[in-house]
Amino acid sequence: MTELGEIVDVIVVGGGPIGLAAAINARMRGLTALVIEPRPGTIDKACGEGVMPGAVAELTALGVHPHGRTIAGISYQNGKRTAEHRFSGDTALGVRRTELHRALTERAAELGVRVEHGKVEAVEQRDGRQSDGDLVGAVSAQLVDGRTIEGRWMLGCDGLLSTVRELVGLATRPRRVRHKDSRRFGIRQHFEVAPWSDLVEVHWAPNAEVYITPVGDTEIGVAVLGRRGTSFEEALASVPALAERLRDAPSASSSRGAGPLLQNTRGQRAGRVLLVGDAAGYVDAITGEGLRLGLAEARAAIECIVGGEPERYEREWRRITRDFRMLTTGLVAAANSPLRRTIVPLAARLPWVYGRIVESLAR
Ligand SMILES: Cc1cc2nc3c(=O)[nH]c(=O)nc-3n(C[C@H](O)[C@H](O)[C@H](O)COP(=O)(O)OP(=O)(O)OC[C@H]3O[C@@H](n4cnc5c(N)ncnc54)[C@H](O)[C@@H]3O)c2cc1C
Repeated sequence: MTELGEIVDVIVVGGGPIGLAAAINARMRGLTALVIEPRPGTIDKACGEGVMPGAVAELTALGVHPHGRTIAGISYQNGKRTAEHRFSGDTALGVRRTELHRALTERAAELGVRVEHGKVEAVEQRDGRQSDGDLVGAVSAQLVDGRTIEGRWMLGCDGLLSTVRELVGLATRPRRVRHKDSRRFGIRQHFEVAPWSDLVEVHWAPNAEVYITPVGDTEIGVAVLGRRGTSFEEALASVPALAERLRDAPSASSSRGAGPLLQNTRGQRAGRVLLVGDAAGYVDAITGEGLRLGLAEARAAIECIVGGEPERYEREWRRITRDFRMLTTGLVAAANSPLRRTIVPLAARLPWVYGRIVESLAR
C-alpha cells in the first residue's frame, strides 16, 4: 500500500495539458488515474497557443471545450512576400494556455481524476505479481517531500526537460551540435490589441520566427523562436510592420521562455513507464504541433494499456510523430542555413506545396 492508501491504475507525472488529457482518457476507459504536478492552480507556459484542428477534435472527444478564437489558416511573411493557406476542413483555435488548463482541469475533476501536488524525484519498478496473478503496485513514484505513490502504470508527461525520462534511462544526450548556441528556444508574451487577421502569422525575421496568434477578441499572443540568446524585443523590432502595430499596445502578460526545444530520447517506453507529450521527444515548435501530437499520444498510450499491449506504444508514437519529425527537422535545418531567406518566397511561389504542408499540420 502507498502512503496515500491506494494503488491507482495510472500514475500521470505532470499536470500540463497532455498529462491532464492522458488522465481524462484513462478515466473515460474505466481506469483510475492520479496526476502528480508540482504547481498549484492554473498553469501557464510558453506556447504559441495555436490549437490545430486535429487537437481541437481530440479535445472535443474528451469533452473539453476551451474558449478561443477561430483560426482559419497559416500565413508565412517576410516583409516582402506572403504565402497564405486556409485550412480546407475544420478550423483551429487560438487558446490561452491558462484557459486550456482550466478547461482540462475542470473535465478531469468531473471524471474523478485525483491531483497530488508534488515533484517526482525517483521512480521504482518491480514485479508486483500477487499469488492470484494480479499485478499490484508495479511502479512507484517518490516525491521530493518523501511521499510514495504506487500504481500499475506510469505516464511520464513532465514536459521538455522530463525527469521521468532521465530516471527510467530513456534520455540521450543531444547529438553533438557543432555550436552549442545553435540550440533553439522559445519566448512568448501577450498584448492587448484586437486581432487584425484570422490566420496565425509567422514572420520570418532575419534571426528568428515571430508567431502572432489571435487568442481573444482583444488579445494576441506573440511567440518568438530562435537560437539561444535571441531577444524577444530585438526579434519584434526586426519586423517593422509588427513593431509598429504593437508600439502602443499594453502587454497582457509577462514574457515566458522554454527550451532547449530539441530533446532526443532512446525510446518511449521502459517497462511500465510510457513517455507522452514533450517528454517523449521533441524537435521544435516551428510547426506548432506539440499539442496535437501529445493529445494523440495520450490517447494511444491509454489504448495500449487498456488493450494489454504496452509494447505497441512505441510503434504508435512513431506513426503519430512521423510527419512532424521529418517536416520539422527539415524546416529547422533550412531555417538555420542560407536557405532561410528562400523559405517565404518558395512558399509563395509554390502555393500547392505550402498548402499541403499546412494541411498536414492541421490533421
Ligand atoms: C515557444 C513555443 C511555442 C509553441 N507553440 C505551439 C503551438 O502554437 N501549438 C502547439 O500545439 N504547440 C506549441 N508548442 C508546443 C507545446 O507548448 C507543447 O507541445 C505542450 O506544452 C506539451 O505539453 P506537455 O503537457 O507534454 O508538457 P508541459 O506543458 O511542459 O507540462 C509538463 C508538466 O509537468 C510538470 N513537471 C515537470 N517536472 C515534473 C516532476 N518532476 N514531477 C511532476 N511534474 C513535473 C510541469 O510542472 C508541467 O506542468 C510550443 C512550444 C513553445 C516552447
